Amino acid sequence: MKLLPATQERPTAELEFGSGVERALAAGNHLFNSGNSDRYATEVLQGVNLVAATVARTTRPFTGATPAELAELVAAVDLEQTLEDTTAALAELETLYLRDAVYFHDTKYAAHLNCPVVIPALVGEAVLSAVNSSMDTWDQSAGATMIERRLIDWTADRLGLGPDSDGVFTSGGTQSNLQALLMARNHAVARLRRDPANAGLRLPALLERLRVFTSGASHFSIRKSASMLGLGYDAVVDVGCDENRRMDPALLAVELARCNAAGLVPMVVVATAGTTDFGTIDPLRDVAALSRAHGTWFHVDAAYGGGLIVSGRHRHLIDGIGLADSVTIDYHKTFFQPVSSSAILVRERANLGHVTYYADYLNPESAAQAKVPNQVDKSIQTTRRFDALKLWLTLRTMGADGVGALFDEAIDLAAGVGRDLAADPDFELAAGPELSTLVFRYRPAGTSESDADRLNPLIRSTVFASGEAVVAGTKVDGRHYLKFTLLNAETTLGDVRQIVELLRCTGAALNTRGVAA
Ligand SMILES: *Cc1c(COP(=O)(O)O)cnc(C)c1O
Repeated sequence: MKLLPATQERPTAELEFGSGVERALAAGNHLFNSGNSDRYATEVLQGVNLVAATVARTTRPFTGATPAELAELVAAVDLEQTLEDTTAALAELETLYLRDAVYFHDTKYAAHLNCPVVIPALVGEAVLSAVNSSMDTWDQSAGATMIERRLIDWTADRLGLGPDSDGVFTSGGTQSNLQALLMARNHAVARLRRDPANAGLRLPALLERLRVFTSGASHFSIRKSASMLGLGYDAVVDVGCDENRRMDPALLAVELARCNAAGLVPMVVVATAGTTDFGTIDPLRDVAALSRAHGTWFHVDAAYGGGLIVSGRHRHLIDGIGLADSVTIDYHKTFFQPVSSSAILVRERANLGHVTYYADYLNPESAAQAKVPNQVDKSIQTTRRFDALKLWLTLRTMGADGVGALFDEAIDLAAGVGRDLAADPDFELAAGPELSTLVFRYRPAGTSESDADRLNPLIRSTVFASGEAVVAGTKVDGRHYLKFTLLNAETTLGDVRQIVELLRCTGAALNTRGVAA
């Protein structure tokens, strides 16, 4: 190890951008450190400039490149042959990736729950990856841990989870849901173990008795979590919905009673605040009351609807969310953050202990006793990104209201598009918009159900291949539909009308060509 003086005279010529070969040969020079911080700044800026130029001239969300075309381009790269420098690698990347990427900021991108991202968060992304703090322990993160904790408290306050709440950032809603169900499972198991009748039973014997209650419209990660946690897919009880696709509390009460009567144990009730397809929000207060009455954990998956905590006009839609035992929130959806940024929040911080494991080399129990803030004690990840920084810079720059206004605009836009589609004889709306999604299909007069089923997926794939717009597809009661997910405050009703016309023309052309027949 060499000790360097705090300020150094550096030979500037050697650091000039462009002397790539020499630098590449001196392998040590690639490691970002105090000796080459100007190279870092120059080259990152080069990458940033390339993205800026690409985005500036992007006029549609996609080029329609096929998997075969892109596979061939990537396969043709010889990974044993290094390029001269970063400039060359970026030039290559332009054709391998940037040229044909799918761009979520484009106003004709209206498919999945991907948001355009806000600039302060992109600055955060650059900072966090360069400093590369890891959130598992205090000795790898320092102030980063304090910032993450502040944002967890801020989120929990906005949710109304109460004074004993806590949480941790995660990689996404899927991981948040998995951790929620893991905590609910271990909570239920701990309660079962307190019964002397269960003394001596091994874990699998207890897991066999646990059941998960959620509506058919909830996210698939709930079912997958049940499977990964050793309960099996068949431990998930599908609770019926009312005519608005919300979990029906009366049916939940019936299922809970049936579970108890069979000597089984309701482990968790999962309500969704913003279903992925319809944006519907389960009746949170009623579901909370039933969960409480049965001593069951109440989880709210607000991966999509979570953004309502900063909404100026629609916050009331998630009234009652503060009654949850745990909440999933995805900042990389309705807070306009780059992937990944998500969190799991709990009403009782002690429940995070269900994922605590003390490792002597990393987070010994003595550290917890000494109150060292080691976030790994709360997480199912170990090495973990400082994603919280992106949200921090976003809030410090735009404020919560600024973020909420972006989501509110998307909700208003969806309402306008919903009115259009409801009045359009060529389209059928499956349900009115709740948040910012619309599920609909092309079905002009005289089109049979089965023709519509053949036509709509083809419209979607044809439009995707054209690159002019990107819309999603889904199924409703076994029938094929199209879906808009609107999250871009820059998108106007006029933009969406153009997409609708594209869908109509594509559908009509496919129809004339007899594709649906
Ligand atoms: C998107 C979504 C998830 C999954 O979140 P990821 O961040 O994609 O892992 C879970 N639940 C709902 C309701 C979602 O919309």
